[in-house]
Parts: sequence; C-alpha cells; structure tokens
Amino acid sequence: MMRQFDGDQLILASHNAGKLREIAALVEPFGVSVTSAGELGLEEPEETEDSFAGNARIKAHFAAQNSSLPALSDDSGIIVDALDGQPGVYTADWAETPQGRDFKMAMTRVWDMCEEKAAPAPRSARFVCTLCLAWPDGHDEVFEGAVEGQLTWPMRGENGFGFDPMFLPDGETETFGEMDPARKHAMSHRSVAFEKLSKGCFG
Ligand code: IMP
Repeated sequence: MMRQFDGDQLILASHNAGKLREIAALVEPFGVSVTSAGELGLEEPEETEDSFAGNARIKAHFAAQNSSLPALSDDSGIIVDALDGQPGVYTADWAETPQGRDFKMAMTRVWDMCEEKAAPAPRSARFVCTLCLAWPDGHDEVFEGAVEGQLTWPMRGENGFGFDPMFLPDGETETFGEMDPARKHAMSHRSVAFEKLSKGCFG
C-alpha cells in the first residue's frame, strides 16, 4: 500500500519552468495548491546519482526536508538508441553553457552525432520521466513513465521546452514542440508517470 497524499499543499521540487508548468497542470485537478522550490528560495541540490530515480529522490527529499511539506520532483531526459542511450540522465547537462542552457545547441549535437554514425532511420528515442513524492519524515514513493518516438530534423515547433522540437512521438505527425500542450499532456512520459502517482497516492 502506498502512502496517500492527504494534504492540500505540495512543493514542486524543480527550478525548470517547462516542467513546473506541466506538473502544475497535472496536479491542478486534485485541488492541491502548489508552490515551487524557487518561490520558497530553496537551492537546487547537486544531482549526483547516475539514475533518474536517484536524482528524483535527491531533489524531492531536499525540498521536503527544507520546507517541512511533501514535495514532488521530476527527473527526466531523452534516451537515443543510436547513441547507446545518451544523453539520458545527462540530458540537461548537454545544454549547459557559461551563459545558461542552450537546447538548440544540445539538439544539434545529438543530431550531428547520429549523422556521424550514419544511424539508420527511424532514429528511435524515448522520453522518460521519474516522479518522486517525498514527505518530511523521509518516506517516498517513485513512479516512472516513458513515451516512444523518433528524432526528426530540422527541429520543429515553439511549444514545449527542452528537446521537444526534435521528438516525434510514435503515430503522430507533429513534434512535441508543435503539439498543442493539451495533446502533449495526453501522452507524455510525464503524464504517464503522473497517472501512476495519482492512482497510487491521490486515492
Ligand atoms: P533534469 O531532470 O533536470 O536533469 O533535466 C531533464 C532534461 O530533459 C530537461 O532539461 C529537458 O531538456 C529534457 N526533458 C525532460 N522532459 C522533457 C520534455 O517533456 N520535453 C522536452 N525535453 C524534456
């Protein structure tokens, strides 16, 4: 039996504007008021684990400990089969520059590496998302979701965030970057994980 979330306030343990927007929309129907870690002035802990679940746990426990409220984190990324699973857990790191994150650069790097390898089409990839709900007493529950698709080039669409413009989900004609946000929410790795979380912990 999973622990139930029975409060009315939840901390979102993320500083990523795209994730915050999507998680807030997923939580909204449950009548829970959400505050982001950034709004509380919490720092971002170092993501020192080499798994999505490990890093999701670090972020959720850090926020729960420092806010004394339950906290929900998201660790996610894109796994490219032709690149042996890269960038994976390091997806955000591939976009780091001294001036901040640059996802056009990161997407170009991913595509160029596939080109260098002459990887055959379709260049299969999946987005994965691990959500961790942690309580101030140290308990947590972890949920995973994935969505299958392929890389496409050139990048398309201004919606979404991160690697959305180069990801074409299976069976779709629009990239996550082109899709209406509601349609992305209906099939994304994040919503698959959230569906499990809501069934498990929101009664
Ligand atoms: P992290 O979980 O903070 O380590 O960062 C995950 C990274 O994966 C984000 O910065 C995005 O680049 C990428 N990512 C995760 N989910 C999505 C998504 O829904 N669309 C596009 N990119 C995503």
